[in-house]
Order: sequence, then C-alpha cells, then structure tokens
Amino acid sequence: KSGFVTLIGRPNVGKSTLMNHLIGQKIAITSDKPQTTRNRIQTVYTEEHGQIIFLDTPGIHKAKNKLGEYMVNVAERTLNEVDVILWLVEPTTFIGAGERYIVEQLQKVKTPVILVINKVDTVKKEEVLKFIAAYKDIYSFADIIPVSALKGDNTRQLIDIILGHL
Ligand code: GDP
Ligand code: MG
Repeated sequence: KSGFVTLIGRPNVGKSTLMNHLIGQKIAITSDKPQTTRNRIQTVYTEEHGQIIFLDTPGIHKAKNKLGEYMVNVAERTLNEVDVILWLVEPTTFIGAGERYIVEQLQKVKTPVILVINKVDTVKKEEVLKFIAAYKDIYSFADIIPVSALKGDNTRQLIDIILGHL
C-alpha cells in the first residue's frame, strides 16, 4: 500500500507536530507562532504495511494578502491530489466561519476526510465526545479519531486508519 496524505486545519492546531511525530523525525518546522509552514513539505513514512507520503500544507482560510493567497492556493490544490485528507481540529475551538469555509472546500473534492481531534491531553473525555457530535453534523467523515500529537496517544491507530484508506 502506498499513497499521499495531507494535513489541513487552522494554524497552530498541531499539523507539523503530528507529522513530525508520525515520521519520527524533525523535518517540518513547528512553532507556537501561526503560519510558520509556508510551503508544502513532503516526507515519507515507510513500514512493512505500506508507505505514506505526507504533504504538510499551510492552513486553509480566506486569504488576507498576496502571501496568504499563495498559501491558500497551495493548500487547496493539494486536496485534489491526495488519497486521504487529515483535518486537524482542537477541542477548545468551536465550529465557526473558518470551519465552515473548510467544509465548503472539502465538499468540492471526493477525497476521503479523516477528522483528527488533536490535543486531547488538554481536555476531558466528555468534551471530546461533544466535539465529535458537533463535527458529525457539518460533514460526513470517512473516520473520526482523537489523538495527542505531543504525547503520541492514538497515533498508531491513526496510521492504521490511513493505511486502511490506501
Ligand atoms: P501547526 O501550525 O498546525 O503546524 O501547529 P504546530 O505543530 O506548530 O503546533 C502548535 C503548538 O501546539 C505547538 O506549541 C505545539 O507544541 C502544540 N501542540 C501540538 N500538538 C499538541 C498536542 O497534542 N497537545 C498539546 N498540549 N499541545 C500540542
Ligand atoms: Mg505547521
């Protein structure tokens, strides 16, 4: 099995941290400042069950300037080119205009979308369950999985879910 996966979501949600954790190497730049990642970075995860090529994109949001426009175009083009989309959210950010904009973009493509609820180490389990219910209402996800990219919780399960879609 082999395929392309992209990580989308708001700036600072943990996209770079998750990718770094999954591949076990510090390739993408992580930072507590938003929009550190300006270009797509390709990394390859290889194991006996298959190969996953990760594209770490800038977040998808309405552009406010030329650089923002470039970043949004890179991210949106990627949605069509990959086999699986990972949409990262954090359970402290409620669904708003930004999330509805992402849903609009996702509805334009046929690529399966896995909702990854990151930073579950920071909230109670019932908060995570409320989040899952709210997100199920706005889009039909191929899978939904809570993880902690920082601690590595559930990340092996995430790899297995991705491989299941390739
Ligand atoms: P990106 O902008 O989506 O690429 O986000 P980053 O990967 O740069 O992460 C933004 C911040 O969130 C960093 O300070 C990370 O250490 C932190 N972070 C990422 N994942 C987790 C997580 O699972 N739990 C906690 N507590 N913090 C996280
Ligand atoms: Mg990043």
